[in-house]
Amino acid sequence: MARHIGPVCKLCRREGEKLYLKGARCLSPKCSVDRRTYPPGQHGKDTQYKKGRTSDYNGQLREKQKARRIYGILERQFHRYFVEAARRQGPTGSNLLQLLETRLDNVVYRLGLADSRPQARQLVQHAHFDVNGVSTNIVSYAVKAGDVITVHGGSKNLRYFREIRAYMEQRPSLPDWLSINVGSDGNITANVIRVPDRNEIQLPLNEQLIVEYYSR
Ligand code: SF4
Repeated sequence: MARHIGPVCKLCRREGEKLYLKGARCLSPKCSVDRRTYPPGQHGKDTQYKKGRTSDYNGQLREKQKARRIYGILERQFHRYFVEAARRQGPTGSNLLQLLETRLDNVVYRLGLADSRPQARQLVQHAHFDVNGVSTNIVSYAVKAGDVITVHGGSKNLRYFREIRAYMEQRPSLPDWLSINVGSDGNITANVIRVPDRNEIQLPLNEQLIVEYYSR
């Protein structure tokens, strides 16, 4: 599946806020959003961020772009998610965030097995995980309640996963809808307890603006 391959810090600077696309660097003083407080581009310094005096359309567009960039999804696939969210019962915005949040790459990130969503995406693409015992390298795979995600047998002894096991204690707290366990044999096993509610998806996103963008 296609992905953005340009400089990612520019994406954050375009939105004017941290989207946490680079793991540890995002928390360090090297973060571009902290160092350059203006949008990217030749005229970025002159433009500055137009907070508080933009059109409705611009607000809706920026919110949609922000969501796409956080989850690393290109426009066509994001629109397909919206169509599916609108088809389902319940509020479209919440359905949309649920669909995005249950992507396998996002779940690997939420489990603390990767520093960022782009890193999680790469780990999944390199087939380091099994879902319900089946090797899965599809980053958009939609996990369901009751799914069991394990580190692939051939991968668990890689240095990366040995180090992850050592740092398990320090990783950020897990969302309530996921659980993870490290066995005495070194196997890492995670469970999807349920699909998350909207209030369990802690993101600075106003999904209603995204719905309005696609409903024009
Ligand atoms: Fe965004 Fe992280 Fe780059 Fe900062 S370091 S601009 S948060 S990707």
